[in-house]
Amino acid sequence: IITPVPVPTLFGGTEKCMLMTFHDQTPLRRVEEMRADFVANASHELRTPLAALSGFIDTLQGPAKDDAKARERFLGIMHAQATRMARLIDDLLSLSRVELSAHVRPDTLVDIVPIIRQVADGLEPLARERQVAIDIDLPEPPVVIAGDREELLRLFENLIENALKYGASGGKVIVSLSSAMSNEGQPEVRVMVRDFGPGIAPEHLPRLTERFYRVDVGDSRAQGGTGLGLSLVKHILNRHRGRLLIESVPKQGATFTAAFPQPKPPETA
Ligand code: ADP
Repeated sequence: IITPVPVPTLFGGTEKCMLMTFHDQTPLRRVEEMRADFVANASHELRTPLAALSGFIDTLQGPAKDDAKARERFLGIMHAQATRMARLIDDLLSLSRVELSAHVRPDTLVDIVPIIRQVADGLEPLARERQVAIDIDLPEPPVVIAGDREELLRLFENLIENALKYGASGGKVIVSLSSAMSNEGQPEVRVMVRDFGPGIAPEHLPRLTERFYRVDVGDSRAQGGTGLGLSLVKHILNRHRGRLLIESVPKQGATFTAAFPQPKPPETA
């Protein structure tokens, strides 16, 4: 920005000079680029099932009009595509809701043991379908953190569902809870979800929480994935001042750990 400014001279009076100011636009431009990327990705992801739907509608109105068998099959595929779109929109809305409230820290004390149990119970049909046993190792007494119940449900649902979807079919998934110290010496409550599937190659690990990032897009789509789950997990954990730890040994499985700060005991007078 160039602004004319009057500058006092040595002999009294003023002289007109030009003042040039430089503003670093890089962070702003980066945010704008990320937003544009996000809109492009989201549109592409929504367009794919929409294109399939309109293709099948055309076929049903034309060549397959009188073919009852084909109609049945196509309607099944259309239903799956519509479900996929609904899931994508749900995930996008959850993500934007969590982002909008990112600065408000949850302050209600909640017991996470029944929350994890509720999620595991809800995923029992998927576990049966995948022939995977969910092995839950949780303590009897309450384990309390400062949290948002609905967000915690979504967080654990994403981690356990991923372990069931991407872990080895016919195997098991272990969900356990422990206390540990962070590297900074902060006491943490850790929820660990471990599977014994193909695992994840190290080069993918740093990118897993990016929106729409998938190791194998075809595999994720086949499992009804949107590529938004781990991004949502990361945002929920950030809002809880927590962190996500991912460890994996290819061919041996993956462990996703959600670590939450242990709430401070109430001050005694
Ligand atoms: P998606 O909706 O595709 O499941 P996520 O954000 O939840 O999206 O996960 C991103 C990608 O990380 C998945 O597409 C999958 O490739 C990989 N992934 C997630 N969890 C596991 C796991 N337990 N084992 C192997 N790969 C996983």
